Amino acid sequence: MSANTFEDAIRRLDTAAAHIDIDPEALEKLKHPAAVIQVSIPVRMDDGSLRVFTGYRVRHDDTRGPGKGGIRYHPNVDIDETKALAFWMTCKCACVGLPFGGAKGGVTVNPKELSPMELERLSRGFIEEIADFIGPEIDIPAPDVYTNAMIMGWMMDEYSKIHRRRIPDAITGKPIPLGGSHGREDATGRGAYYCIKQLEQIHAWKPQQIRVAIQGFGNAGQSVAALLHADGYRIVAVSDSQGGIYSPEGFDVPSLIYAKNTQKRLQAVYCEGTVCEAVEAQRITNAELLELDVDILIPAALEGQITAENASRVRASVIVEVANGPVTSEADTILRDRKVLIVPDILANAGGVTVSYFEWVQNRTGYYWTREEVYNKLRDVMTREFVSVHRRATETGIDLRTAAYAQALQRIGDAVAAQGTQRYFRRQNRG
Ligand code: GLU
Repeated sequence: MSANTFEDAIRRLDTAAAHIDIDPEALEKLKHPAAVIQVSIPVRMDDGSLRVFTGYRVRHDDTRGPGKGGIRYHPNVDIDETKALAFWMTCKCACVGLPFGGAKGGVTVNPKELSPMELERLSRGFIEEIADFIGPEIDIPAPDVYTNAMIMGWMMDEYSKIHRRRIPDAITGKPIPLGGSHGREDATGRGAYYCIKQLEQIHAWKPQQIRVAIQGFGNAGQSVAALLHADGYRIVAVSDSQGGIYSPEGFDVPSLIYAKNTQKRLQAVYCEGTVCEAVEAQRITNAELLELDVDILIPAALEGQITAENASRVRASVIVEVANGPVTSEADTILRDRKVLIVPDILANAGGVTVSYFEWVQNRTGYYWTREEVYNKLRDVMTREFVSVHRRATETGIDLRTAAYAQALQRIGDAVAAQGTQRYFRRQNRG
């Protein structure tokens, strides 16, 4: 992780601000996180020893509503990364019109090294430390990289215990029996899929001819792969943190997902009817996957993957950012000059937080929706906001990222202006 992910992230603000009428004060405010907390989490390990982990929660901005954003468990989590991720959440929620600001949290840990019980103690311990900093009307955590529904369930339970009453709307992404929403699990991938369906219409794509490579085969990567595969797209490469597999004919995605989730490894499987057998696919590295000759590249892992160093070797004509921040701002410029179409993270992966919003609404009203209702509402939000960003980009001749940021900034700027700005107060003073 570079030492200036946050600096790189906020660089995009000025580019976008040039295209809209936003008060400079509103812009200035967004360059500084509203509040940052660092905590130490002592955890009793299974062997009886004590380990102290470091965790963070950043509330970047709450002008448009309570902070919202996931909690990440990863060895590379640090304060700079968490600030950048919280900033992206502010822009994402505004970009798709959710009544939330942005926040993010993380613990520096390799969760694969912990037993399930250690993981539970760590998750409960983290909530104990940040309990005064979060809440249903303050800042609402959710899953992110290497955290899942079960962890969210523990966190909601811990928060509820502290307050001695059940507070399901304090955390989203919970298991369905504990107040989770239908459709939250695959919402991030599904949101990206709805964006791709819009592009399919605009460019009159024939799915069978479109080759897709996906970096990262976790929750979001798997969902978008499964949905595209079901529509006939050719998923020719996928990877996880260990490396990737490539097959120019395309993979049978459901069996790939089955192998990954049961054997914890990427294994190509060939199926004829219901009979499947393992096949040898070409092994590739994560770096090679990014440079494959494909039509759509979907980075769905971590930030900072496409940089000034490798951007000129990317051969895909479309990049759909399912991860947060996979393309650095320097790489952005190179790809823009090469006319690569990028559907930016703050739009492409907003499906997850959109269904988190639906979950929060359902928890607060106590009235629960069917899976179909959730999918329909998600499709409505994603399609409406994609069309609006795309129209802004086409009408003003800017790229989709700048248009997505301009849309977000416009909404944040309007909220700041509604509270009064220098312009307003100067006028008042003059009487
Ligand atoms: N971690 C997800 C994201 O980066 C979801 C956040 C949420 O649901 O609040 O968008």
